[in-house]
Amino acid sequence: MSDERPDDLPAGVERRSFDGRDRLATRGLPVYGEPTDGDWRVWDAGRSKLGAMLELGMDTGLGGGETVLYLGAASGTTVSHVADLAGPTYAVEFAPRPVRDLVAVAEDRENLFPLLKDARKPESYAHVVEADVDVVVQDVATRGQAQVAARNAQFLREDGRLLAAIKARSEDVTADPADVFDDVLDELAEHFEILETARLDRFHDDHLSVVARPR
Ligand code: SAM
Repeated sequence: MSDERPDDLPAGVERRSFDGRDRLATRGLPVYGEPTDGDWRVWDAGRSKLGAMLELGMDTGLGGGETVLYLGAASGTTVSHVADLAGPTYAVEFAPRPVRDLVAVAEDRENLFPLLKDARKPESYAHVVEADVDVVVQDVATRGQAQVAARNAQFLREDGRLLAAIKARSEDVTADPADVFDDVLDELAEHFEILETARLDRFHDDHLSVVARPR
């Protein structure tokens, strides 16, 4: 999947200058008021945990052109960038209001497929999502994040990647985030081999990012 680019960014993601600052960018129509030069648009790491993972230089396994299952798409901020660089991109979101915006985002992206579904019930979209997806991106911000990942592991191909952003406060508002992350990682490790983790606090408070592959 990786194409050995010197900056380790996936094909379709570049560092470009916007207002004198080097910013991550993908080529596509703007979605959330991000700066654009008419062709490329800023991928704002402060608005996107996957963007933050790329800013931190994590090895996401994304190389461009993958089949992606995205869990917790909300109104499409991050998944729109994913669709700019990936192949078929299935975007699961269970809240009707953001899905209305997501559908509008998908109108300009023929490889983006919004699904008004609950990520805890993968059987409800298993007939739509292709088997053997290359990458599952998860940003659901709900209690039971490890369980959501485990239930969706069935879609991943053997050497595919889970790219998850774990929000500590969604699991337990009072606990020390470090303890929450330890528990979530222990649970994830029952189903995945953990390849890399990084705190995203520079961009997103009390979030841990995880790169893993199915066992
Ligand atoms: N990933 C989005 C982005 O970067 O543009 C932001 C996602 S927001 C932090 C979390 C989203 O997950 C919310 O829109 C919420 O409705 C959704 N969500 C939470 N639990 C879910 C579930 N079980 N199934 C589907 N979506 C869920």
